[in-house]
Amino acid sequence: MHVVVCLKQVPDSSEMRINPKTGTLVRQGVTSIINPYDVHALEAALQIKDQLGGEVTVVSMGPPFFEQSLKEAVAVGADRTVLVSDRAMAGADTFATSRVLAEAIRRIEQEFGPVDLICCGRQTIDGDTGQVGPGIAARLDVPVLTYVIRIREVDPKGRTIVVERKVEGGRQVVRSTLPALLTVEKELNELRYASLPGMLRAARHKPIVWNRETLGLERTEVGLLGSPTIVAKSFTPPEKKRETVMIDGSDPQRAALELADRLLAHPTFRKAVVAARRSAAMAAAMAGGSGEAGSSRGR
Ligand SMILES: Cc1cc2nc3c(=O)[nH]c(=O)nc-3n(C[C@H](O)[C@H](O)[C@H](O)COP(=O)(O)OP(=O)(O)OC[C@H]3O[C@@H](n4cnc5c(N)ncnc54)[C@H](O)[C@@H]3O)c2cc1C
Repeated sequence: MHVVVCLKQVPDSSEMRINPKTGTLVRQGVTSIINPYDVHALEAALQIKDQLGGEVTVVSMGPPFFEQSLKEAVAVGADRTVLVSDRAMAGADTFATSRVLAEAIRRIEQEFGPVDLICCGRQTIDGDTGQVGPGIAARLDVPVLTYVIRIREVDPKGRTIVVERKVEGGRQVVRSTLPALLTVEKELNELRYASLPGMLRAARHKPIVWNRETLGLERTEVGLLGSPTIVAKSFTPPEKKRETVMIDGSDPQRAALELADRLLAHPTFRKAVVAARRSAAMAAAMAGGSGEAGSSRGR
């Protein structure tokens, strides 16, 4: 089995800020991590290799410092890594990103042999769109299995895979032909630690670096030029103010009255109370009307 893992290095979300003037992410001074879903995609690939043998190739599109994440992938067991890096690729949206990654996977097949499975994360924690995996699958014309929470069976001879997908209100078991592309959830597996030999290998590791020309892509097919999406505005919503008021409950009747007063003073609740009173009055009027008719009949 030859499994390709798509792995993106992202800013640590706990430190993420947006520049209010430019509307772009502030990356300076922010720690980078491997996208949290992608480490589970890598683990899935490594488990398949452990069970069935084969190779794991990791591919990433990004600036040269993404090499750090690729070394981490080698430390846990990846066999080779490919970094697709080119200034012309900056500002890519999901359309351009999936085009570049699909081309890189085609090139990986040419150089290192057929690819049986592609593993991606469900989504990234910076762009957050979840579109890149399905985008790659569409370009490579392979089936896509999203939200994968369990891999039940991989049959390299029969060329099939059976997975469990998370769906609303349950799970769905799907059998697909290989090659296929999975986008995975975090509950798919437990992560392994890097071994000492792995860390030593990672320290010496250099990724294979490809650029736009290596992949035979035009300038207009990558980066900002190849991206139809325009992010018009990006901003952090103002924090909502929250207030907690403690009501003395020693006198329940008084506490209930105070609660009612406070609720009535609140614009949202006031509207709800006014609406409730109106419907109660209408209901009473209707009940009263039929009551009168009933009593006149009775007279
Ligand atoms: C604040 C912000 C807003 C943005 N808004 C938009 C927008 O509205 N529309 C739009 O099209 N783009 C947008 N982008 C750009 C978007 O982040 C990039 O296109 C990005 O490279 C890929 O999209 P994603 O991060 O959403 O990936 P997702 O589709 O969420 O990623 C899914 C999986 O694909 C793989 N993957 C994704 N990117 C890479 C990569 N570079 N290398 C290797 N594997 C990868 C990973 O396995 C990942 O888990 C925005 C970016 C930011 C920072």
